[in-house]
Amino acid sequence: MSDYRIETKCIQSGWHPTKGEARILPIYQSTTFKYDTSEQMGDLFDLKASGYFYTRLQNPTNDFVAAKICDMEGGAAAMLTSSGQAANFYAVFNLAEAGDHIIISSALYGGTFNLLTTTVAKMGIETTVVDPEISLEDLRKEFKPNTKCVLAESISNPSLVVLDFEKFAKAAHEAGVPLIVDNTFPTPVNCRPFEFGVDIVTHSTTKYMDGHAVSVGGCIVDSGNFDWTKYPDKFPGLCYPDESYHGTNYTEQFGKAAYIVKATATLMRDLGSIQSPQNAFYVNLGLETLHLRMQRHCENALKVAKWLKANENVAWVNYPGLEGDVYYERAKKYMPNGTCGVLTFGIKGGREASIKFMDALKLIAIVTHVADTRSCVLHPASHTHRQMTDEQLLEAGVKPDLIRFSVGIENADDIIADLEQAFNCLK
Ligand SMILES: *Cc1c(COP(=O)(O)O)cnc(C)c1O
Repeated sequence: MSDYRIETKCIQSGWHPTKGEARILPIYQSTTFKYDTSEQMGDLFDLKASGYFYTRLQNPTNDFVAAKICDMEGGAAAMLTSSGQAANFYAVFNLAEAGDHIIISSALYGGTFNLLTTTVAKMGIETTVVDPEISLEDLRKEFKPNTKCVLAESISNPSLVVLDFEKFAKAAHEAGVPLIVDNTFPTPVNCRPFEFGVDIVTHSTTKYMDGHAVSVGGCIVDSGNFDWTKYPDKFPGLCYPDESYHGTNYTEQFGKAAYIVKATATLMRDLGSIQSPQNAFYVNLGLETLHLRMQRHCENALKVAKWLKANENVAWVNYPGLEGDVYYERAKKYMPNGTCGVLTFGIKGGREASIKFMDALKLIAIVTHVADTRSCVLHPASHTHRQMTDEQLLEAGVKPDLIRFSVGIENADDIIADLEQAFNCLK
């Protein structure tokens, strides 16, 4: 499959039926799987044979969808999780445990920021937060002997910072740790982080991948490029026998799939954040049109961004696809075909005017969501990011007057007309 272009992979990767099998990916709505002998079952538990035995660990529907996303990203192995939160948690917790240290970009989705600063701290993992525009020199100084990974977002939600992939990859690799990137916003249609040195990619499939706002889900993809065996004492869980799994040595037995097999065999086994096969089926349907939708999301967002930029009521607009944006040049380099459908802007008159404006919208809804077919807005300071202090908000690149606008794939002129009538209500 891997030679096909991204549009073909969106449709054809993953499920490959043969003679008499369902043309469309079946939903394996079964918790368990049958074997004929006790020995067959025993070999599965020993990881000697591969096969399904219990859906908390693996399910065929999920695995075919994970294989499609893996192919789209150009990875070596992948797994689905119940949510994007679970994907980012597993991606980190598969490497770092109590007593370890991680480095994260300050420009992150609020939920991820909270997870990786507050919740993992309770598990004994120490986190250093860095500005994504930190110099390479200063970034190098943040690594410690117990640092296990670096995590950032390719386009951050909602601050829309386009990551300098090469700077972060260089610093991480010099320190002997992998770079994990949440690629939810551009999706592999617009950006493939493995091409720029990223080692592991995560997704909230809830967003563009599903794209219709019907199922919460996540995905982790490993490039297979990070050589864990160069640093066995840093990554003992991957390089030494796992006593909780019959002495399995993941890197020896599974090579490039080691990281994903370990996450499945230990984290999914013990924590159980499995995506339901029904939801995985919806994600797969979404993926089939992802390349078409991303193109339209980007076209519409650019039209709206230009219109807002020229509007007298608007104080500022951020959209990495808009010429003149701080991240325009970097976006051109890493995602030349488009960025995403999300933009942010501020209204003259600040907080009060923003709320009045949003309440006047008719077509565009106020929704805690981004990246589905329908246009929607959100005011992070009073919604998604309300757990953050003003200082943390600014650190994450979120201005208190910021309106996050997820531009849908309706007719762009209708979207603009709705904005216009809402602005008229401010008068
Ligand atoms: C929404 C989102 C998440 C969290 O995903 P859920 O599926 O809601 O758990 C993580 N990262 C980014 C960039 C997101 O937009």
